[in-house]
Amino acid sequence: MTRPIHPNPNPATGAGHHMWDKLDNECGSGWDLLIDPILTMCDVLGLEVLQVKEKFGGVRVYFTPYYNGDVSDARCTPADEAILEEMIEAAETASFKTCEICGGPGRLTNSKGWLMTRCLDHEEPGSIEVEQIETIRV
Ligand SMILES: [Zn+2]
Repeated sequence: MTRPIHPNPNPATGAGHHMWDKLDNECGSGWDLLIDPILTMCDVLGLEVLQVKEKFGGVRVYFTPYYNGDVSDARCTPADEAILEEMIEAAETASFKTCEICGGPGRLTNSKGWLMTRCLDHEEPGSIEVEQIETIRV
């Protein structure tokens, strides 16, 4: 499956956190604004977002306590981390209603076995709307 090339940072969506530069982002830019606050939060806490990717039609965010490669720079308490996990969960939930391509209102669809969240304009021909299934987070 081909994906749009992601500009880092993305001036079109206004998502401009500097962490975008080194982030491994495999998502379409429609989700930039969902992810941007998480990057800011991680920056404040001294965490680094390693990877953002699409899985089963929704966004997944992976972070690490190693800030700039050094764990001693992390300023994150377990309570902070719980807040961050909530933010990530909220972004994941929102991603199932947000077109991955343009950021407009979207729905989860199945296109030839691929789950993807798209608006009507960006839906693959012949795709059908499906219910979000509970997935195991890894
Ligand atoms: Zn769209």
